[in-house]
Amino acid sequence: MKRIAIIGSGPAGLMAAQAALEQGAHVSIYEAMPSAARKFLMAGKSGLNISHSEKVHQLLGRYDAPDGRLRAMVSAFNASDIREWMEALDEPSFVGSSGRIFPVAMKASPLLRKWLRKLAERGAELYTRHRWTGWTSEGLLSFSTQNGAVQVESDATILALGGKSWSRLGSDGQWAEILSQRGVYIDPFEPSNCGVEVGWSDRLLSQHEGAPVKSIALKMGDKKSRGDIVVTRHGIESGALYPVAADLRKELSSSGSATLLIDLVPDVRTDALAKRLASANSKDSMSNRLRKAARLDKVKVALVNEVTRGSPPGDASEIAALLKALPFTVSGTAPMDDAISTAGGVSWDALDEHLMLKAVPNTYCVGEMVSWDAPTGGYLLTACMAMGKAAGAAAAKAT
Ligand SMILES: Cc1cc2nc3c(=O)[nH]c(=O)nc-3n(C[C@H](O)[C@H](O)[C@H](O)COP(=O)(O)OP(=O)(O)OC[C@H]3O[C@@H](n4cnc5c(N)ncnc54)[C@H](O)[C@@H]3O)c2cc1C
Repeated sequence: MKRIAIIGSGPAGLMAAQAALEQGAHVSIYEAMPSAARKFLMAGKSGLNISHSEKVHQLLGRYDAPDGRLRAMVSAFNASDIREWMEALDEPSFVGSSGRIFPVAMKASPLLRKWLRKLAERGAELYTRHRWTGWTSEGLLSFSTQNGAVQVESDATILALGGKSWSRLGSDGQWAEILSQRGVYIDPFEPSNCGVEVGWSDRLLSQHEGAPVKSIALKMGDKKSRGDIVVTRHGIESGALYPVAADLRKELSSSGSATLLIDLVPDVRTDALAKRLASANSKDSMSNRLRKAARLDKVKVALVNEVTRGSPPGDASEIAALLKALPFTVSGTAPMDDAISTAGGVSWDALDEHLMLKAVPNTYCVGEMVSWDAPTGGYLLTACMAMGKAAGAAAAKAT
């Protein structure tokens, strides 16, 4: 029986374990934390958006990776496979109004409990409080445990160590140093799916910190998204930012700042808006005209004043155009550890078509530790599990 060691018990590692067991391998899972899949459980706090029901070609278009390997894996294990897998664990799913897929239970704990039980029934062993520290000179896997150092021999190893955010849940990125020393190129980690920094004036913050800005549209380059945002002390936070986050980050790293355009009235066309503003009572102050004719609430008016330093243009067409594309200078992203996910990690050049490290034979990398990116919407968990599925099967089949 082939011995497969899986290191990291997040969704990528657990799916790799399941796939290897299905190929008849003996599976041992090692986890640094006192219990399994803490980040997966945290994702469950907001309902566990596990995948997305859009057409497969649209789903594949959400991934930012240098070649087709990730998309091929997601195509082979996509949203409908995930829904079937959940059904088999007796944790059915549903499609929400936005097309996102959630477990009916709207949390991760029952699904995780049943998943771990099924893996154990099939013979997988889970060793918690086992922190992987690298390889011995004989090529054995080394772990630090409460009872001292432990060495393990495996026929193949699957590293599923996660990205570098929410380190308190175990995903601390410390593995990068171990792999670098073995000649594996690590693309620099970057926060993804995170808030952004905007230098608000004291006046705006004193009146509107924490305020939601409802029903707006965001535009960055050719990426758009809709939703609500929140004004925070450091800038803007919201899930609506995440679809434009990758482009924002690229612009930030090439030019040091980026311009995010906010459409405050996405359901009204510019010409219709200009007409309404032109027919507003010219004796009203500009703030009142914006409130009455453009139906902006207080925080939206404050944002217009913030950008125009209190002097919005008087011409109706000009102000209408501004309301449809209010420019905000973004100076950075929120701290890495607060990000929902991280981009960067093991470079695709370091991996073969089965996700095996070219520099370390029989050692595979899966999940967020590999260098790809996607917005939230269930795409992260889908890809982590698809990679786990592909590498788990490949590792168990390889001779
Ligand atoms: C608040 C929050 C909400 C989220 N919501 C969603 C969502 O709704 N939908 C979605 O698609 N994604 C969501 N995500 C992202 C998603 O949870 C992650 O992308 C996913 O968990 C990554 O899976 P993974 O298995 O690659 O790594 P992880 O889940 O990070 O697991 C890696 C595991 O490896 C262990 N480990 C690390 N180093 C070592 C070591 N040296 N030795 C042994 N073990 C080690 C860690 O302790 C950890 O358990 C959310 C994330 C957060 C933080």
